[in-house]
Amino acid sequence: MLHVPVTEVPRAKFPVIDVHTHLSFSAKSQNGVPVGEAVNLTAAPADVLSVMDRGNIRMMVNLTGNHGSGLAEAVKTWQTPHPDRFMVFTEPSWDHFTQPGYPQWQADELGRAEAAGAKGIKILKTLGLYLREQISSGPLVTIDDKRFDPMWEACAALGFPVSIHIADPEAFFLPIDRFNERFEELNGHPDWSFHGKDFPSFNELIAARDRLLARHPKTTFIGLHVGHDAENLAAVGAALDKYPNFHVETAARIGELGRQPRASKKFFDRYQDRVLFGTDAVPGGKDTPQQLFGDALYQIYFRFFETEDEYFDYAPSPVPPQGRWRIYGLGLSDQVLRKFYYENAERVLGLKKA
Ligand SMILES: [Zn+2]
Repeated sequence: MLHVPVTEVPRAKFPVIDVHTHLSFSAKSQNGVPVGEAVNLTAAPADVLSVMDRGNIRMMVNLTGNHGSGLAEAVKTWQTPHPDRFMVFTEPSWDHFTQPGYPQWQADELGRAEAAGAKGIKILKTLGLYLREQISSGPLVTIDDKRFDPMWEACAALGFPVSIHIADPEAFFLPIDRFNERFEELNGHPDWSFHGKDFPSFNELIAARDRLLARHPKTTFIGLHVGHDAENLAAVGAALDKYPNFHVETAARIGELGRQPRASKKFFDRYQDRVLFGTDAVPGGKDTPQQLFGDALYQIYFRFFETEDEYFDYAPSPVPPQGRWRIYGLGLSDQVLRKFYYENAERVLGLKKA
């Protein structure tokens, strides 16, 4: 029965770069590991561009561009006809992992991906939670496995930012029971749970990530989903303080940021040069309303970052999909909004002409 102001924000106050979207996906996977080169496209450019134009979204980064012929198709569909509106990232060829000479081959492959148009690389949580010694069987391969060192160094040499997703909400590492704050979501998607079996703990994943950040100081990393730890902004801030090569983005975590609005606002003020705008938008992604690409999704994001509206839904969905709570707007300053919406991404993605 709460009567509070409702501010409509159909268009962002300043131009936006959405650094985390999925306009194509690897067509095949095996036990969670993408295999093969083919991609499925999730939308047609004209439909995406109309939403972007209405919302003041200048550019979208399609992170999941796969590699080889799939990458070529994603580049040809999105980036080549609209180079100022779309950017495509490549992904490692996980299914080559067991072949002799893989570490150097993968590093060299990034050079070929760059020649094909890729602007960066996306690391799904394949690394750390799915990829195994025999690709889909055997022990899990750790995030800081040295066999990927040539790949991380190639990223630095090519100026490829690394968009990395290594852990999920802390609740996904706990039992799916009545004490779990994401019970409904996990009950609906039990395969999202990393509790038990041979999975590393949340803290072990973060520790492996930190070793990676420390070992490759010249490589720029973007920690997706608020550095994979939106529930613990103090820990994210500590990582940003410790690793100058680390940045974060906000995709699919305004539900977390918005239930701690005072801490979040302080975080944005303090790290205003290190946070990038991202949504995890998937055209047609009805299974995850918090990621469903469209006007409604962007309006919620803009309302959250720009206004001080109180107690509103964080996803275009009748039931909050990532926990039954609502959020409070941050009312970020114009200075912070400009950096967060555009300027930080412009710098990290290398769009800015020297
Ligand atoms: Zn994503």
